[in-house]
Amino acid sequence: MGGETERRRTRAPSRAEAPSLAGTGARGFERTRVWLFDLDNTLYPAECNLFAQVDQRMAEFIAKFLGVPFAYAKHLQKSYYRQFGTTLAGMMRVHRMEPTPFLDYVHDIDLTPVPESPALRAAIDALPGRKIIFTAGSHRHAERVAGKLGVLDLFEDIIDIVDSDFVPKEKPEPYHRMLKSHNVTPETAAMFEDMPHNLVAPHALGMTTVLVHSSYIDHPIQLKIRNWTVPPEHVHHMTEDLTAFLTGKTGLVRKAEAAGGAPAEPG
Ligand SMILES: [Mg+2]
Repeated sequence: MGGETERRRTRAPSRAEAPSLAGTGARGFERTRVWLFDLDNTLYPAECNLFAQVDQRMAEFIAKFLGVPFAYAKHLQKSYYRQFGTTLAGMMRVHRMEPTPFLDYVHDIDLTPVPESPALRAAIDALPGRKIIFTAGSHRHAERVAGKLGVLDLFEDIIDIVDSDFVPKEKPEPYHRMLKSHNVTPETAAMFEDMPHNLVAPHALGMTTVLVHSSYIDHPIQLKIRNWTVPPEHVHHMTEDLTAFLTGKTGLVRKAEAAGGAPAEPG
């Protein structure tokens, strides 16, 4: 691993102040006028562990839909996730399953763990420009969760997995669709996401990328992130605390992209 990391504090600009990152070579937020947020484990902290509920309900639905034991449904769920990027995509391709009943069922979860977040609301509200939720979940799920957080009305729209034609965000197609449907110029957009591989496409398109990661979850991807000595090229910024990042209290920016250090393997 050549090159050295320079860790410096950065933050998104408020309406009153737009700090310049010029000179660092890292993509900053000077030009950002469209703020795109993933929902799950990004807008709310991973500690809420909503995915445990969704995960359980996906296997329940598959078991019932296919008439197979729960353990086998669980196995199919994981293998479709690996093969097709999402469990839903696999079920649609292999079993011709209709997406709507599945999405309704898996997202019918208890939102008690999601806290109302006035500080996050203030931080998002202070960002200059348009704000959009861009999720691989359903529209209804995003609406419920953002409503519980107390931030729903700040967003001009929710782009969900149906709008993305069920293609996961690790592929460039959903980004191309979003740019076109919402008239977004990539250089003026920033994407906030908890899955590093979902930032490859927005980075390639010219967006600023922010990885919202967590030391709470022992997901293999999170374990991999913890082992990075240098973030991969497609991750401009990293934070474990979205509100703190947006208000300038925390966050790391990778050194100049031209630093010469070999980027870590993408997650
Ligand atoms: Mg997510």
